[in-house]
Amino acid sequence: MKTINVQSSCDDEKQMGTLTVEDALHRMLDAVTERSTTERIHLTQAIDRVLAEPLVSPINVPSHRNSAVDGYALNSAMLPIKPNITTLSVVGKIVAGHPYQSTLKQDKAVQIMTGAQMPEGADTVIMQEHVETEQDSVRFDARHTSGQNVRQAGEDIKQGQTILKTGIKLTPPQIGLIASLGIAEVNVKTAITAAVFSTGDEILSLGQPPREGCIYDSNRYSIISALKKLGCRVVDLGIISDDPVKLKETFELASNSADVIFTSGGVSVGEADFTKQVLADVGNINFWKVAMKPGRPVAFGHVNGTTFFGLPGNPVAVMVTFYQFALPCLQKIMGIKNPLITPSLQAQSTQNIRKLPGRTEIQRGILSQTEAGEWQVCTSGKQGSGILRSMSDANAFIILEHERASVSAGEQVTVQPFSGLF
Ligand code: AMP
Ligand code: MG
Repeated sequence: MKTINVQSSCDDEKQMGTLTVEDALHRMLDAVTERSTTERIHLTQAIDRVLAEPLVSPINVPSHRNSAVDGYALNSAMLPIKPNITTLSVVGKIVAGHPYQSTLKQDKAVQIMTGAQMPEGADTVIMQEHVETEQDSVRFDARHTSGQNVRQAGEDIKQGQTILKTGIKLTPPQIGLIASLGIAEVNVKTAITAAVFSTGDEILSLGQPPREGCIYDSNRYSIISALKKLGCRVVDLGIISDDPVKLKETFELASNSADVIFTSGGVSVGEADFTKQVLADVGNINFWKVAMKPGRPVAFGHVNGTTFFGLPGNPVAVMVTFYQFALPCLQKIMGIKNPLITPSLQAQSTQNIRKLPGRTEIQRGILSQTEAGEWQVCTSGKQGSGILRSMSDANAFIILEHERASVSAGEQVTVQPFSGLF
């Protein structure tokens, strides 16, 4: 089972105070392992699934020599030498799916359609736009070369060739490629099952009437949506009050029913934060202070061998820590070798942004292009870590690096567009 050496991490933490974003991510990545279970599924179910074995082609592609154009197939021995012109009589017409049954005689041509199988005896096709037809014959000049306009069998893929490697998260073109080989089923990694619950006496489920001093649960819904987008199965365990007995029961249940557990809230230092106390009994958990804003308190470890992400309570901190930490870890667990590329880019800040060096700040921004095609970014509103509105209005993170101080309008900043993330 997956366990990590908690003691040493805690000691380190005491010495270091807080972890940088990079340190925290490395520790998490080191502590998760690629899943080994696989299942065979039909290709129609395989989109976004991760290949568990190399895909080897059982056939040649194309499977037969065929014409790349509509035209006339002939033997290249009949091509004229400049300035001559050749005339050949045409013996018939070959259409796709209906092969010519005999060998083409050397002094004949046959009309052929795109994709139709080349007849024995022919090795060259002249496009129909490059011939003159006359009753049952074609005339052509000396501009043609031997073998032109013919697609050879196995030209794209050879039988026995590996065409997709283990760890590929399948995309629509790859599904098409697999189908083109006549393969109906693929071996993929089994999906990750994630158990999710929210913590807090003040948290209300959708459908409950508003109550004084309480707020609606948003984290469970954003976490579950993000997990579903990644192809995880979700066990929704609802909202658990700040009660050590209930929390402990729920952690036991979660670790029995899932590969990964996600919670939100209860990981900061606070009166009602029982998570620590409860987890001391059931798991090996690190409670980290990460030098980032939002998302400073993060818990991570294993509960009865099940990977556990204790995300902060504040809704934006949840999104930021999910994206910065959980996403790369889930990709590693899923064995994805071609993760979605979400490139960061440099954009000009249109405003001043206050920032202290010594922690990474991840702000919500609106990225756009000027008429001249240059990238520019502004923040999307108030940046408090509980303010979901500015997260919802944003289309990118503005990453203000650990050592960076305040940004003046006009400076370049690093921006991570959301596309593909949320
Ligand atoms: P905590 O770390 O539990 O003290 O939570 C920090 C802040 O996040 C508090 O203001 C909580 O009310 C809020 N919070 C915790 N869980 C949720 C949730 N599931 N949905 C929305 N806000 C939450
Ligand atoms: Mg709480």
